[in-house]
Amino acid sequence: MIIARTLEELTAARATLGDVGFVPTMGALHAGHLKLVEAAREAGLTPVASIFVNPTQFGPKEDFARYPRDEAGDIAKLEAAGCKLVWMPGVEEMYPADAATSIHVAGPSQRWEGATRPGHFNGVATVVAKLFGQIRPQAAFFGEKDWQQVQVVRRMVADLLLPVRIVPVPTVREADGLALSSRNAYLSPEERRAAPKLHAALQHAVKYLQQGKEPAAILHHTRMELAAAGMVPDYVALVQAQTLEPIAALQTPARLIAAAKLGHVRLLDNLPIG
Ligand code: AMP
Repeated sequence: MIIARTLEELTAARATLGDVGFVPTMGALHAGHLKLVEAAREAGLTPVASIFVNPTQFGPKEDFARYPRDEAGDIAKLEAAGCKLVWMPGVEEMYPADAATSIHVAGPSQRWEGATRPGHFNGVATVVAKLFGQIRPQAAFFGEKDWQQVQVVRRMVADLLLPVRIVPVPTVREADGLALSSRNAYLSPEERRAAPKLHAALQHAVKYLQQGKEPAAILHHTRMELAAAGMVPDYVALVQAQTLEPIAALQTPARLIAAAKLGHVRLLDNLPIG
């Protein structure tokens, strides 16, 4: 596996690879990230990953400085997963002092994560567009765990006619249902025991929604369930799956999305309504 840390190294390495399936990450890799690498390989593409903890997608009070980092471990995991190239730019390489462009995707970015974390999706869209320009992948693989992020990236790619196919990959979970996340490392043992209740509550809600129960009542009940598990729900919403607009009655495609604080950790999860 080639490790590129400068654009010059990246360009030279990229020229030796054929059709690329790209997996952007912020490192601290777990089985969820590696599933994306596997999906790229299974699509018949050469897997290429990036590790870049992108400062512009963190708010001023967020965890940029203490975001988990494990460069040696990440490289070993990517290599074992069959990744052929890892792009690890520095902040100066990604954001030269004279850079003057950023990307704002309206529409699907506006609510939920976008409302709670102002500027977050501008940071995501801009860095993803830059990574696409650097790597020039045929396809890029994103986790459904960050459902809204996938819809923002899809909207950007469609609107800017970027020549890349966006492939969503289902969420990888622990045996007890907790969605894998680099930030799970922040959970205390007690919080870790409570954390799967987010997934469980969403599963209950999906079951009731499918039985035709009234969405507003189900969403209210789900918030109560999260509070009873010691979480502070940020949002629990039934949304149109692509636009992320809230819907009052079940329609397809719909998605149940939620975020809740457990101690200092913000947990995210979502499920399709089959
Ligand atoms: P991150 O390093 O958190 O920015 O995530 C990099 C990519 O991995 C994103 O596309 C995430 O949605 C995806 N990802 C993170 N956790 C999971 C998971 N549990 N299952 C599947 N994909 C994931």
